[in-house]
Amino acid sequence: MRVVRTVAALREAIAEAGDGGVGLVPTMGALHEGHLSLVRAARQDHELVIVSVFVNPTQFNDAADLDAYPRDEARDVELAASAGADLVFAPNVAEMYPQGFATTVRVTGSITHRLEGAMRGSAHFDGVATIVAKLLIAVSPDSAYFGAKDAQQVVVVRRMVADLGIPTRIVSCPTSREEGGLARSSRNARLSPSARTRALAIPRALREIEGALSHGEMDAGVLKERGLAVLRADELEVEYLEIVDPDGLEALASVTRPALCVVAVRVENVRLIDNVLLTPAHALAAER
Ligand code: AMP
Repeated sequence: MRVVRTVAALREAIAEAGDGGVGLVPTMGALHEGHLSLVRAARQDHELVIVSVFVNPTQFNDAADLDAYPRDEARDVELAASAGADLVFAPNVAEMYPQGFATTVRVTGSITHRLEGAMRGSAHFDGVATIVAKLLIAVSPDSAYFGAKDAQQVVVVRRMVADLGIPTRIVSCPTSREEGGLARSSRNARLSPSARTRALAIPRALREIEGALSHGEMDAGVLKERGLAVLRADELEVEYLEIVDPDGLEALASVTRPALCVVAVRVENVRLIDNVLLTPAHALAAER
């Protein structure tokens, strides 16, 4: 497994590879099964699979969160190799943001201002869009793989790629979950055993909403209350629980077509997000 640290070395390595296509999996390291599922998807599709490992400082709104972010490159390289990656791109901050760096890629509108943008500040998605644009320019991958767990990130990246005419296919991979349904996240490592148990209320709340929808409840206000009740029972601090349009992320009054239910909570000061795609029964029936 090769590890390269500069864009120049990365381009050389890509030039040496054959022309079976390049798949890129952008990560911030602390790899877990969720990341590895993206690597495996890339492996299936392409001859050269590159995993980038870069804790991007510009997307953190909280310096303490950035400092506390888990880092273990040797382990990441081993795990990436085990899932079939060919190359790890692990630049330092100066490589990605050289002295005098003054460019920001900004996606505007409700897709960046609502939900995560509202809670973490609009600079969060500026940081995400800028680093993803830089990675896509550095690698020129045929496909780039992202997790559906960060649903808003996928929407923002798709918008940016379309607007800038970047010729990369954006692939959204299903959320990988632990036993009990908790979405895998690098932040789960910071949960105490009791916080981990309480965090199971997140997937339970999403299942509650799915269950109510399957029994015919389509009112978004009622569905949200059902989910909030589950979260409150475990005293989780809810930042938001919303039912939104999957493309524009505007709040919906009722679920008469596929909708995204997104949630963000804090458990013992660890911030966790999750989501589920809601499909009303009549839409499911129409698919059959
Ligand atoms: P991160 O290192 O947290 O920036 O995540 C890197 C990529 O892995 C992002 O596209 C995430 O959406 C994706 N990812 C993180 N957790 C999961 C998960 N549980 N299932 C699937 N993809 C995930």
